[in-house]
Amino acid sequence: MTVYDDLVGQGPVIGQLEAAARAGADVLAGAGGGGMTHAWLFTGPPGSGRSVAARAFAAALLCPDLGCGHCVSCHQVLSGTHADVEVVRPAGLSYGVRETRELVLRAASSPTGGRWRVVLFEDADRSTEQAANALLKAIEEPPARTVWLLCAPSPDDLVVTIRSRCRLVTLRTPPADAVADVLVRRDDIDPDVAAEAARAAQGHIGRARRLATDEEARRRRAEVLAVPSRLTGLGPAVEAAEALVKAAEAEAKAAGAELDAAETAALRQALGESAKGRMPRGTAGALKELEDRQKSRTTRMKRDALDRALLDLASYYRDLLAVQLGADVALVNAERARELRAYRGTPEATLQRLEAIMTCRERLEANVNPQLAVEAMTMALRTG
Ligand SMILES: [Zn+2]
Repeated sequence: MTVYDDLVGQGPVIGQLEAAARAGADVLAGAGGGGMTHAWLFTGPPGSGRSVAARAFAAALLCPDLGCGHCVSCHQVLSGTHADVEVVRPAGLSYGVRETRELVLRAASSPTGGRWRVVLFEDADRSTEQAANALLKAIEEPPARTVWLLCAPSPDDLVVTIRSRCRLVTLRTPPADAVADVLVRRDDIDPDVAAEAARAAQGHIGRARRLATDEEARRRRAEVLAVPSRLTGLGPAVEAAEALVKAAEAEAKAAGAELDAAETAALRQALGESAKGRMPRGTAGALKELEDRQKSRTTRMKRDALDRALLDLASYYRDLLAVQLGADVALVNAERARELRAYRGTPEATLQRLEAIMTCRERLEANVNPQLAVEAMTMALRTG
């Protein structure tokens, strides 16, 4: 067992990180060598394991054995309790300048364990411009023992000034059989169920696990995939758009409410809630701040849920294109092969439909009203 066990299908990345952890240990031992890189950027498509890789690297840097996976230090880093590792996970749509400045200050203090102080910044692409500037200063002149691990979908998601100062770690989409293998081995999932979930999730490990274990998630996905065959005219297109948006909202609201309730209860207790549920004076601001952050997070979750539905929809048309072109590739939605073969239309029309989905994703990312963006898409997808 090592700290890299949770990385699926990322052989080259593991090799790179092992070499870097050795170089870091040489620096600590005073052996010199190539020296230590103080800023790293982990990129890869959603679900490929960016933050898993960054966390494993943090553990390797702090482990006397370069990432054995079972010492106290490794356990602490992997479970998120190591004093020298701070994990930053922006809850909402953006990470602000005040938070970043405070983070930079904390990052500059000496490591308690004598090795490195590591800041693992997930979704670093959500930093506001001012926050990115504050971060840049810290990365330009890093304290000798501080290591920044930034995660983002692609290098282009960060401003070039930050990007150019980071060493890149590029994760790839893990192959479906590697994902299925993990589900069987680690989560004890039936091999057939694992294979289908891995295929449907298109390399997103967390999504594959959810599809394999959560019937509701499977049902929602099936509903999305039933959309193309229903788009026979204007009326159905409008209805389908509404259904897609509402389903994503309901999903995000349910998941968000669960998180919110637990957080709010914890904060109220920490602030000194009385047995009768009364709050001490002067605590309203803190509660309001939490509420704002939660709202922002729910917005993000709604957008993510809708995007996931659009990716499922795109997989349908990509399969359709493969069938129309007679390409010899494994279909993501193999269970719909018969329906796909019966679909009437040209490969050109299918390409246009795929494009309509991608345009919709871009619009949503640019904060266009979801109902409007999705309706424009279903209009472009309809066959009648
Ligand atoms: Zn260890």
